[in-house]
Amino acid sequence: MQRRTLLKLAALSTIGLPRAQATAKPNPTPSKYNTEPITMDDVIIIGGSFAGLAGALQLGRARRKVTVLDTGLQRNRFAGRSHGVLGHDDKPPSAILTEARQQLARYPAIKMVNARADNISGTIDNFSVLTGDGETLSARRVILSYGVVDQMPDVSGYAENWGTSVIPCPYCDGFEVAGQHWGLVWSGPQSMNQVRLFHDWTDRLTVFADGHDITPEIRADLAGRRVPLVDGRITEIARHGSHGATIKIDTGPDVAVDILFAHPRTKPSASLHDTLGLATVNTPTGIALKTDERRETSVPGIYAAGDLANPGIPSVTTATWQGAMAGIFAQQSMLV
Ligand SMILES: Cc1cc2nc3c(=O)[nH]c(=O)nc-3n(C[C@H](O)[C@H](O)[C@H](O)COP(=O)(O)OP(=O)(O)OC[C@H]3O[C@@H](n4cnc5c(N)ncnc54)[C@H](O)[C@@H]3O)c2cc1C
Repeated sequence: MQRRTLLKLAALSTIGLPRAQATAKPNPTPSKYNTEPITMDDVIIIGGSFAGLAGALQLGRARRKVTVLDTGLQRNRFAGRSHGVLGHDDKPPSAILTEARQQLARYPAIKMVNARADNISGTIDNFSVLTGDGETLSARRVILSYGVVDQMPDVSGYAENWGTSVIPCPYCDGFEVAGQHWGLVWSGPQSMNQVRLFHDWTDRLTVFADGHDITPEIRADLAGRRVPLVDGRITEIARHGSHGATIKIDTGPDVAVDILFAHPRTKPSASLHDTLGLATVNTPTGIALKTDERRETSVPGIYAAGDLANPGIPSVTTATWQGAMAGIFAQQSMLV
């Protein structure tokens, strides 16, 4: 019988065995299948926040050599507290990441590096990643988890109040302001879904057209729901109180709300996927990398996870789940 077949049988024969006792001493030796030269990692992860660290955790536990490159600018760094994450509800986002990094430190196969990835070249089983420090790293697989950037419009007070008075997601912060007067900046037809969604949190909603042409049908729908529509363009957002906002409009009087929801355009935090020519899909606010059900992109050996590759509802939970899946499928793709 060939060596490869024997190894496969050996791996399969472990299925159904009882779990190792929690008291058993872990064996941190690298996987014996890591036969690559010492200079080569199994996986390089670009972006070490919720998605990237979740991928690293699975790989480290499988004793696969992984290097995580990160520049420390996770998307929700503007928010004081993070919500809706099981076991971590109502904690500062940075505290969740600090705890995760501390937990990952016990896996010798995981190396975390504060550095930017500037370029990726090569093909499956031999990728090279050039860092901002001028170092070249090699790996058999790559996971892209470098997230997206919210592009602040040129409106005074928008960027300054992002994450406090101006927020994107009711699942993240809606509970804390339920029943209060909410505002919504219209960003396109998809905003009507937000209007319907928000009813679960409040009956007091004002929509700001912000220069968009709102169709008669939508105007009638909003009126039927007793949701006032304010035409004109937003010229300034002034914070009042702990999170309230006064919205200044070019064609009419100011309007005060307790919280303003807005969905600025996003763009990927880096352009590595562009250089690689990875396939993308359009989302209502930007683009997302296209992946298959194993989180592999259109280039074999390159996986993607988190907001960068999520055309649906972005969240810490989704990013973590996708990151874990990317790590597991990258590992399984290297089995002999
Ligand atoms: C204001 C606000 C509040 C939010 N609140 C919540 C909440 O309460 N609950 C919730 O579940 N979700 C919340 N979210 C959504 C949440 O922030 C994202 O879904 C989550 O951060 C996505 O995780 P990620 O790992 O995909 O990307 P990110 O967390 O954005 O991390 C990407 C990482 O990649 C790094 N990076 C970028 N480029 C490079 C490069 N070239 N090389 C190396 N590293 C790089 C970045 O520095 C960053 O550390 C909020 C979002 C916003 C904007």
